[in-house]
Amino acid sequence: MATPKEMMTTWDKIQPGAVLPSFEDPQKKIRSKFNSYNYKVADWRVEKPVFNRNLCIDCDFCWVSCPDSCFQVEEVVSKRGKKQAKIVGINYNLCKGCGVCVDVCPTPIKSLLMFPEFTDNDEALQEWPKKD
Ligand code: SF4
Ligand code: SF4
Repeated sequence: MATPKEMMTTWDKIQPGAVLPSFEDPQKKIRSKFNSYNYKVADWRVEKPVFNRNLCIDCDFCWVSCPDSCFQVEEVVSKRGKKQAKIVGINYNLCKGCGVCVDVCPTPIKSLLMFPEFTDNDEALQEWPKKD
């Protein structure tokens, strides 16, 4: 298995779910039997993460930490010419609502927060904590 340094070359070389691997054999990418690719785990959710693009700094912690590779990304090139993943959303068909992504999000006001499953995402964004 690649070392963290090797995995950090560019965002697209990082194995999705690198922190909590979803693979039984990462080299062959054999998915664990209990991965959301094999089982629909979205039904487990009682709370869901909501993503606030306005606060996100694109650190990608959520992307590498999510055990179900739920984060949708778009490739962008930074001012320094480095390829970078821009988080654009969450695939709720894969998300089981574990809350790991919220825990690892480092922004002073979290860019991800858990809300009850049936909360409308636009309403959740209206309720977001504000800066003092
Ligand atoms: S709550 Fe976050 S970390 Fe957990 S499965 Fe959903 S998106 Fe992934
Ligand atoms: S962990 Fe938070 S700040 Fe980092 S990319 Fe994910 S949502 Fe954005």
